Amino acid sequence: MGQVHHHVLPGRARNPNLADYDQAVAHFKWEDVERNFTWYDTGKVNMAYEAVDRHVREGRGEKTALLYSDSARDESYTFADLQEKSNRFGNVLRKYGIGKGDRVFLFMPRQPELYFSLLGILKVGAIAGPLFEAFMETAVKDRLEDSGAVALVTTPDLLHRIKREELPELRYIFLVGGGSDPENDVLDYETECASASTVLEPEWLGLEDGLIMHYTSGSTGKPKGVYHVQRAMIQHYYSGKVVLDLREDDIYWCTADPGWVTGTSYGIFAPWLCGVTNVVRGGRFSPRDWYQTIERNKVTVWYSAPTAFRMLMSAGTESLKGVDLSSLRHILSVGEPLNPEVIRWGDKVYSQRIHDTWWMTETGGQLICNFPGMDIKPGSMGRPLPGITAAILDDKGNKLPPYTMGNLAIQTPWPSMMDRIWNNPAKYEEYFRIPGWYISGDSAYMDDEGYFWFQGRVDDVINSAGERIGPFEVESKLIEHPAVAEAGVIGKPDTLRGEIVKAFISLRQGYIPSPELKAEIASFVRSGLSAHAAPREIEFKDKLPKTRSGKIMRRVLKAWELQLPAGDLSTIED
Ligand code: ATP
Ligand code: MG
Repeated sequence: MGQVHHHVLPGRARNPNLADYDQAVAHFKWEDVERNFTWYDTGKVNMAYEAVDRHVREGRGEKTALLYSDSARDESYTFADLQEKSNRFGNVLRKYGIGKGDRVFLFMPRQPELYFSLLGILKVGAIAGPLFEAFMETAVKDRLEDSGAVALVTTPDLLHRIKREELPELRYIFLVGGGSDPENDVLDYETECASASTVLEPEWLGLEDGLIMHYTSGSTGKPKGVYHVQRAMIQHYYSGKVVLDLREDDIYWCTADPGWVTGTSYGIFAPWLCGVTNVVRGGRFSPRDWYQTIERNKVTVWYSAPTAFRMLMSAGTESLKGVDLSSLRHILSVGEPLNPEVIRWGDKVYSQRIHDTWWMTETGGQLICNFPGMDIKPGSMGRPLPGITAAILDDKGNKLPPYTMGNLAIQTPWPSMMDRIWNNPAKYEEYFRIPGWYISGDSAYMDDEGYFWFQGRVDDVINSAGERIGPFEVESKLIEHPAVAEAGVIGKPDTLRGEIVKAFISLRQGYIPSPELKAEIASFVRSGLSAHAAPREIEFKDKLPKTRSGKIMRRVLKAWELQLPAGDLSTIED
């Protein structure tokens, strides 16, 4: 492994919830976390109760829970408001015979009603299935069909993408924003809610009862329907405290859409279980708009993704002019590896470290993280959450020594571990093929201080002339070059070397593709990283293929290269 001398950024302010990592790990018990929930005493659980009603019952009903804005709306809702709105929709669902275990999907842009209705679904014990608004007909149909959804909440603009005639199980559609067609069971959300009672006794559930279903991002293949249960709240709450570092007066902004797991685990559950004010910004990404959202709402804790940070970095300091970001206390990232260059830039322009966190749809919650206050090694995902044991295993399940690349694995179980892959038990079993362990599909190594270093998806690791090269390391070096905005690196089959490193690069504004630039970039990696990891081929692209959750789709790059079919593209950006 080439990477041994890492620059360490010493930890700054301490996290009162995790003052000493080693101590916390040594004394950790999940049961101590469980004591914070109502159900610990009653034995009966409901996520929406713990995230909303409980705050009202305990005197925090007038606290602001949701600060929503987009170009047309600017609204604020208290926990009492959330309780009332979700009770109303819960009663509507009950009126139509929908309840425990039924799958109810949501297909709409971020707007307050998405949050109200999702909570209403949970209140009656149904399983929420959020879908990203940009999905086209087939993507929506496949997911509704696979999940057997009985009802859908959507908007008039999106209605034409629902192939009703091909979805016999889909009984009701609730339209947010006007319109109805009662003969076809298309009902007006507002009218229904207006006439429903504001009082509702939640469906009391067990910890193993269903909560939410998320289809994965589709970076590596056909998206999988990952099914989570109520128990996950233990991890959402705990990681909200120790990783997001949420404190009573925080104004928290998670930029993810609830169509992806980050947008629910950390865009809904963690902040509201912890009782903090949650910012939701509708509409599309723009650097200026995002900075103004932070300034206007005085955001203190900000959770986003490498793709967004890279775009903000490309936008340069111009976009920062005149905005006041001094409210920010803690910044986090998830979804893709966080390049060291991005951390260094964050240090400079926000005077804040960006804290990387690693987890997956299947894991339901954060597992390996840079905790606030901990020393950060840029390029490392950090260390396991207390209560979590991570290891690097070979394909037979043997533990590998430090600095050896292998399968990133987590000891089973943990509270937010997926319960199943919907309709696909064989796929589920694959993750657990080594007894006692969950095999993530990611490749990583551990250093001698227990920090984990992501290398790439297992299938993306490049084998060139006997050397194993993680694409992430190469991509991170590439984006240190001033001309490079983003980079995706793959192994290209080669008769001599097995594979060679090939880089697809999008250039920053103002740079013009040329053979000289290619040569210069390749030599930049050769001298800055190593000769064997330097790309032997570079191809410039205006844009790299990405999922809607912002991940570079290396399998699409590879398919282009090999002139093969690109596979499932339902989650690709425009
Ligand atoms: P699919 O499973 O459909 O191919 P996906 O794996 O991209 O898509 P997600 O569950 O959204 O779907 O993403 C989880 C994956 O994202 C992880 O397995 C990992 O490869 C990557 N990832 C997430 N966070 C990090 C991180 N902090 N560092 C490196 N990689 C990360
Ligand atoms: Mg995955």
